[in-house]
Amino acid sequence: MCAVILLAAGFAAAAARAQSSPPGPISISVDATHAAQKGLHAKFEIPAKPGPLTLYYPKWMPADHSPDGPISNLAGLKFSAGGKEIPWQQDDVDMYTFHLDVPSGASGVSVSLDFLISAPGPTIDFSASASSKLFILMWNQVVLYPAGYPAHQITFNPSLRVPPGWKFNTSLPIASQSDNAITFAPVPLDLLIDSPVQAGQYVRVFPLTPGENPPHELDVAADDEWALDIPPALIDNYKRLVAEAHALYQSHHYRDYHFLFTLSDNVLFLGQEHHESSDDRVAERTIVDPNARLLEDGLFPHEYTHSWNGQYRRPEGLATPDFQQPMKGELLYVYEGLTEYFGTILTARCGLVTPAQDRESIARTASELDHRAGRQWRSLQNTANAAQILYFSPPQWASERRSVDFYPEAVLIWLDVDTTIRKLTQDQKSIDDFAHLFYAGSEGQPIIKTYTFDDVVATLNQVAPYDWRTFLRTRLDSTDAHAPLGGITGGGWQLVYNDEPNEFIAASDATSGGGDYTSSLGLRVQGDGTIIDAIPGMPAFESGISPYMRLIAVNGRQFSVDELTRAVRDSKSNSAPIVLIASNTGTIETHELNYHDGNRYPHLQRVEANPDYLDEILKPHAPAK
Ligand SMILES: [Zn+2]
Repeated sequence: MCAVILLAAGFAAAAARAQSSPPGPISISVDATHAAQKGLHAKFEIPAKPGPLTLYYPKWMPADHSPDGPISNLAGLKFSAGGKEIPWQQDDVDMYTFHLDVPSGASGVSVSLDFLISAPGPTIDFSASASSKLFILMWNQVVLYPAGYPAHQITFNPSLRVPPGWKFNTSLPIASQSDNAITFAPVPLDLLIDSPVQAGQYVRVFPLTPGENPPHELDVAADDEWALDIPPALIDNYKRLVAEAHALYQSHHYRDYHFLFTLSDNVLFLGQEHHESSDDRVAERTIVDPNARLLEDGLFPHEYTHSWNGQYRRPEGLATPDFQQPMKGELLYVYEGLTEYFGTILTARCGLVTPAQDRESIARTASELDHRAGRQWRSLQNTANAAQILYFSPPQWASERRSVDFYPEAVLIWLDVDTTIRKLTQDQKSIDDFAHLFYAGSEGQPIIKTYTFDDVVATLNQVAPYDWRTFLRTRLDSTDAHAPLGGITGGGWQLVYNDEPNEFIAASDATSGGGDYTSSLGLRVQGDGTIIDAIPGMPAFESGISPYMRLIAVNGRQFSVDELTRAVRDSKSNSAPIVLIASNTGTIETHELNYHDGNRYPHLQRVEANPDYLDEILKPHAPAK
């Protein structure tokens, strides 16, 4: 069953529970003129009747699928009515809930709060959202809202002041503007939180569909002017991305679309999807550094795809009535995993990477998932169910614990679906036909249409009748030691290993300074020798190496990534073991690895006996302009 409802779906039950209609519009004014000093200030007026009032700070963030609203950086909270301060209490069980009493005779409360901006660190920190030259306002940082009403029924009248001379971009419709003060049109709470504002001293706008409706634009902000210089060839790729997405999805569910692209080393790197924009933040040198750029080429195709898959079509368990109800991640292999698959193929279709590069990306994914020791205890389904834990787990022990594998492993599964449809229909149908059906309807408006596992199976059956339920469940619930590689062979290719570097692994190592020996020693190491992961069952782990140790020497030479790569290369012609000296919490240990297969990097190799469906999947599909 599907239900078409207004933004923030699944509200029927919550709406029925609500005793009365929500209070009139809440006015919120955000002062970001001191963003460079790492602070935002917000004031708002919440209409309310005298008596107990419960307010929520947004907890479960739709793009994160986790209860990670950055409440620890909320400060300076004050409530008043008629100029008199009102005492408040934070709930002693739920930290995102605040209780107060509206005094008799009052018609509402005034709220004042600060949001403290931080700097990026080793963990995900959504309060790292500004530098001295730019900020991205995520409205959930500065909002409280009354309990008891679905988010789409609570209207806000937002306004914002940016530092003098700064420009801004957002998908929020603007009611009026005077110098650095902007008043936005009234907006429901769910759409407000879905509509970040990017602002900065250095900002440039590139129209991607000039003269067409709906408008699409690339909005670039950076810490220095030079970084705004996006090469025309790259702009052409982004234009082709819009065209290829429309050829694939054949609909759109936004009034206009903004790629809010921030190039800064001083904010959290992320890609966050919204109906009418994406918040895409990468390192300042990403466009001019070929390795960094290759690793980020898939960012826009992924986040843009979410406007259809995740925003418009959303699993029932993730379409909660407000930001307080827990979300269920069981269908994240569709929400994120199918998005990752469509993102992967769109990245090639629009020319951001070549088909050969896309095959290198798929080979790396296949190898990484095929070397997950944890797949024998934790199914892919469980990685989705446990998303709220795994997003915040460290890279150490990623193989044994598993990670948010519902992204990369689902690429392999949806490739399997795509090639199976092609086989079943003698290449007359493909997953593109699934996309045409699944994302159809409700043209041009940011709404949500929920779905269940049964809806996915039913739509696949509309494209090509098959036992899709068993097909998917077998792969999702498997605790097999190996990754599902049927889509690669079904696409006319096979996963092989040789000593030629994989382009994506090489780019990743060059960018991080570390070394990835996943498919040889079963080891990932930082540039300083600190072990990130050692895979149980593989040579490094079996010699006694584990994450958190630090390598000091390789075969009698001081450790470096180059030295270790040479030792692995020479292992082929060397009967002696690789000898590693490591510091294990201060104790110096010697580990001997009986490994003699040399460097092994994953690639896809053509199988001539099978049709080359992968080539068909990756080639451009949009009509040439
Ligand atoms: Zn995503």
